[in-house]
Amino acid sequence: MDISGKVAIVTGAASGIGRATAEVLAEAGAAGVVVADLDPAGGERTVSLVQSRTDAQALFVAVDVALEEQVEAMVAATLERFGKVDILVNNAGICPTTPWEETTLERWNQVLGVNLTGAFLCTRAVLPHMRAQRFGRIVYISSAGAVLGSVTAQAGYGASKAGMLALMKYVARNFAADGILANAIAPGSIDTPITDSFGPEVKRDFAKISFLDRQGTPRELADAVLYLVSDRATYVTGATFHVNGGFVLV
Ligand code: NAD
Repeated sequence: MDISGKVAIVTGAASGIGRATAEVLAEAGAAGVVVADLDPAGGERTVSLVQSRTDAQALFVAVDVALEEQVEAMVAATLERFGKVDILVNNAGICPTTPWEETTLERWNQVLGVNLTGAFLCTRAVLPHMRAQRFGRIVYISSAGAVLGSVTAQAGYGASKAGMLALMKYVARNFAADGILANAIAPGSIDTPITDSFGPEVKRDFAKISFLDRQGTPRELADAVLYLVSDRATYVTGATFHVNGGFVLV
């Protein structure tokens, strides 16, 4: 799978699935990888991991994907450094476990703001550039929670992840003629700080639900992202790829 010369923005790439995605895209030949995240220390760590192991250039851009001006600035910084953007991976996300009784409007809006509005803002900011060059690949990191409803997470989480699937389908339908393919990945339980935050018992339970009797690794998710943005997935758009070790059969 080849993505030679491509420039990718990976949101939430300071940790977990996003970091692994930045590394895997760089290993597959990306010319530039933008590590877009709130967390400068984690982001710079990803940059050095990418640059020490591959020929790709990596750039950390501090961004809160829920804030319009910051997202616009992130895309401007990408264009300034690399001159184009070919791939967007909408991966930044939060997964609080707030129980229903404590799910205030503010907490609901926070989850929707990062997970869903963030994906909208990033999509909207890159689309003019992708349309002008008649090439783009956009991947939405949704969740099994999009089809199950939130399991451990706050109610808004599943809603935000289901919303990402509908947004992805809109983009796939409306911009295919411009050379843009949009797809989603719905991960099951992956071994990252998000599932660490659920505690060891929940992590064990999640591992057992998988046919493979374990959580997935961030790189196993990243390999699925690579497929969708590579030259091997040219007839795939509007699809949701369930990468979950048999956690939920859809
Ligand atoms: P993680 O916590 O390791 O990484 C999330 C990253 O997103 C962090 O680096 C964080 O700083 C960043 N981030 C959070 N809010 C942000 C914001 N407003 N702007 C920019 N960056 C922000 O978690 P992960 O497990 O790697 O999760 C990545 C994505 O995968 C999330 O969207 C999550 O919902 C999704 N997902 C994860 C799992 C899982 O089991 N780990 C399952 C299904 C879906």
